[in-house]
Amino acid sequence: RCGYIAIVGRPNVGKSTLMNALIGAKVSITSRKAQTTRHRITGIQTKDQTQFVYVDTPGFQTRHSNALNRTLNRTVTNTLTAADVILMIIEAGTFGPADQQVLDLLPKKVPCILVINKSDRVKDKAILMPFAQKVMSAFPFAAVVPVSATLRFQLESLEGEIRKYL
Ligand code: GDP
Ligand code: MG
Repeated sequence: RCGYIAIVGRPNVGKSTLMNALIGAKVSITSRKAQTTRHRITGIQTKDQTQFVYVDTPGFQTRHSNALNRTLNRTVTNTLTAADVILMIIEAGTFGPADQQVLDLLPKKVPCILVINKSDRVKDKAILMPFAQKVMSAFPFAAVVPVSATLRFQLESLEGEIRKYL
């Protein structure tokens, strides 16, 4: 089995960190600065007879409509429609207009998993469920998985969800 997994989300939610953690190698550049990822970076992992092809995308740019940002946004849209499954990354406890604009880009035909990253920052885990439900009401997600890319928390559950669509 083999499949394309597109990773999307607004800048700085941890897309590149998550892809590196899933693959277990440092292939994508991570930084606290937005716009570090300016082009598609692919990471391939073969595990238990399954090939996972991850496509890390530049953060969707909403602030300025210039040539660079339009190109970045087109890259995101192209990656999404070609994917077998999409990982929509958000930060635990935060869902703003920039996240909503990425949500508006998601094609309805491709299954999309809501990944709530940086869940290590949330001390009271009980707030994660109502938060997830609020976001789930905005889009028909196939699943929701809270993770921590830096602590490698819940990455196996996420991988299990991904496998369902490959
Ligand atoms: P991207 O712009 O979405 O690709 O985000 P990056 O992967 O470059 O990460 C942005 C920042 O968030 C970096 O400083 C990361 O170290 C941090 N970060 C990523 N994942 C996590 C996480 O699970 N927990 C915490 N606390 N920080 C994270
Ligand atoms: Mg990145």
